[in-house]
Amino acid sequence: MRLAEYDGKALLRRHGLAVPRGILLQAGDGPPAEAADWPGFLLKAQVLEGGRGKRGLVRRFDKVGEFRDARRLILPALDDADTPLLLEEAVAIAREIFVAVRIDGTAQRLELLVAPEGGENVETAAKLARVPLGAGTPATPETIFAGIAQLLPRDLAARLSRYAARLPDIARQEDLELLEINPLVLAKDGSLIACDAKIVRDDSADFRHDADEFALSRRLAERGLTRLERQARGLGFQLVETDGDIVLVTSGAGLGMMMMDLLADHGLRAASFMDNLRGAPDETMTERLTIARALAARPNIKAIVFQTVIASRSLAERIEALIAWINAEPLPKPLFVGLAAGHAAARAMSPDAAIEKLRVLGVAAFTDPVALVKAVAGATG
Ligand code: GDP
Ligand code: MN
Repeated sequence: MRLAEYDGKALLRRHGLAVPRGILLQAGDGPPAEAADWPGFLLKAQVLEGGRGKRGLVRRFDKVGEFRDARRLILPALDDADTPLLLEEAVAIAREIFVAVRIDGTAQRLELLVAPEGGENVETAAKLARVPLGAGTPATPETIFAGIAQLLPRDLAARLSRYAARLPDIARQEDLELLEINPLVLAKDGSLIACDAKIVRDDSADFRHDADEFALSRRLAERGLTRLERQARGLGFQLVETDGDIVLVTSGAGLGMMMMDLLADHGLRAASFMDNLRGAPDETMTERLTIARALAARPNIKAIVFQTVIASRSLAERIEALIAWINAEPLPKPLFVGLAAGHAAARAMSPDAAIEKLRVLGVAAFTDPVALVKAVAGATG
């Protein structure tokens, strides 16, 4: 789950890191009386995408009376006028730093990233220190200092090392995939203040945390779903609509990604990605096919690919359910079926027998996924 800035800062504050004073305003709310004597203001749209500064979704102003003008400048750049806005006290910036802790998936450990010039153009900044944080390199200020000392003045490097050494523990306790602070502001008074936060929590660890916290982030994520994505979630699986022309029906993230890659290797683009939901029923084939039919009715879609891999459940049952779906209503687009079945799955029906049953209905089926994708490319290209 990606946290909105407001929720991310609440998490940082809970762990004792300084963030600017701020108040979340719903659409139509004005600035509260307590903000009147702040030294300056920022108004920041709470959307889950980054790069808000460049999109005009972050506005700075000096007097509380300029609030309405700032809001008027933000509104046209928003997809949804009901987006909440964060009103913050502006911090006087001496320097913007980028600091992040993320999971290095290849090395299977955390790593710390530090760029001495943070802010909106950090992607193009040349200087970046990567400090691996594993069992061999505990995240102490000393090890971090050694990794970043060449990038910053010594006294700032030392203070930043002490600051950064706290982040890996927060990431572990909160089950974060990413904890990015950009900008981490060195204020004119010498303090370090997290002025923006991009935080992603590992969804698999959701059960360890309060289901009611971060209501804003949940609401924003929900609002970003398409109608079919929301419907799929209600039916017990996860759908992600992608920009493509082949409806892909699979079960499990690994198989889905493999098939998306195979399609792409053959010049085709998947229009859907399906995955299982935690705690959902483990058999949702009928529901997936229902959504696939709705997707396939769209004019830009050229074909439907159904790929199944089964080890112990019955191939016969699965093929009978598939045939019932095929016969229920005319298919909006040609269907291609891939099947892989282990010995236990093939007891009542062999893959060859399944392929023959589908062939009789005019549906091409394959045991080799590459042959399947080549057939789709040949028929649609
Ligand atoms: P993003 O573009 O979505 O990452 O939004 P940010 O919250 O990082 O804001 C973009 C830029 O606004 C930052 O890089 C800063 O330059 C500036 N900014 C953010 N907070 C403050 C602040 O408290 N004071 C000042 N002066 N500038 C700020
Ligand atoms: Mn930022």
